[in-house]
Amino acid sequence: MSDSVKKICVLPGDGIGAEIVASALAVLKQVAARAGFDVELYEEAIGGAAIDAFNNPLPDQTLRRCMESDAVLLGAVGGPKWDPNPPALKPETGLLALRKALGLYGNLRPVKMLPVLIGCSTLKPEVVGGVDMVVVRELTGGLYFGTPRGVSGEPGKETGFNNMVYQRHEIERIARKAFELARRRRRKVASVDKANVLEVCQLWRKVVTEVAGEYPDVELNHILVDNCAMQMVLRPAQFDVLLTENMFGDILSDIGGVLTGSIGTLPSASVGDGPALYEPIHGSAPDIAGKDIANPVGTINSVAMMFEYSFDRPDLAKQINDAVSGVLNDGCRTADIAGSGTRVVGTREFTERIQEKLR
Ligand code: NAD
Repeated sequence: MSDSVKKICVLPGDGIGAEIVASALAVLKQVAARAGFDVELYEEAIGGAAIDAFNNPLPDQTLRRCMESDAVLLGAVGGPKWDPNPPALKPETGLLALRKALGLYGNLRPVKMLPVLIGCSTLKPEVVGGVDMVVVRELTGGLYFGTPRGVSGEPGKETGFNNMVYQRHEIERIARKAFELARRRRRKVASVDKANVLEVCQLWRKVVTEVAGEYPDVELNHILVDNCAMQMVLRPAQFDVLLTENMFGDILSDIGGVLTGSIGTLPSASVGDGPALYEPIHGSAPDIAGKDIANPVGTINSVAMMFEYSFDRPDLAKQINDAVSGVLNDGCRTADIAGSGTRVVGTREFTERIQEKLR
């Protein structure tokens, strides 16, 4: 195999995972073949499917294959079948372990308003028109991982505590991801913190400002998290790259998720210093699994992100994004984003329409 062949580990997972990943793979193979871009695909089990087959939500073979790949494509994991399981045998445990093993310290979540879907947003068209931002969320530090943590004290007088902890190097590496990304875009970074109250955020602000010195061509602004939440619903189009610590990012990226209307359309990438993981932002949607009605756009656009960020082929990413927009513009929709005057089709037909655009 030549070095230029890209190895992709494919993890369909549970629920609608198999359907949406099948759609995304059909698009991936077509775009790659047309561009003469060599890919090797390896499908492995994760989550509930892996528990059923191997009694392990992240089998060794899956982990090894992911670590040896250039990128990983995931559908989603989880479902009611495995809800009663102990923590070690829950589907989500497999995904968390994979993220940890791959050292994925940054989550990139693009939020882009497609003009044709503007009516799907709960916000006014004049507010969400032109929204095109990426939330860059730190994923392995901060309040969710800081120690000491716990609940102590005798019953009736307990104290609960967590710690928001960041080391300089953790801030530096995620800040660099944000600035590098901004260079591919409109060259603006807004760094979110609560530096008026929290010392950890004062360090965050100081380090981000220092890193900004390495990127003089990128504009940096600092914004307090409460104001940021407000601005995201008041004037979201002002943002280009939004850099945030873990918990602030958790909350703000969900606000970003609703701006554009449907959870089914949004892709994401989790990045570290090795292979990145690409997945739609939604879960396994057991309520609609196997019905051929899932929206595959979030997963297909995750493949577009893979081409752009892991394989440095923004041209192929654009082909995919344009084909998706083209089909939506034609009035062809899955049920979750149907509107008046549109034609509702199933997952497979929607995918075929995209493939036609790519021919
Ligand atoms: P969900 O995102 O799976 O579904 C929420 C709602 O959105 C459902 O009504 C669903 O039908 C709909 N929906 C989601 N994706 C859609 C798509 N592509 N097209 C059309 N409609 C779509 O969230 P949930 O119901 O809270 O969780 C279901 C399972 O997924 C749980 O087991 C949960 O733990 C798991 N989960 C996994 C991930 C992941 O794998 N990264 C993320 C979130 C939730």
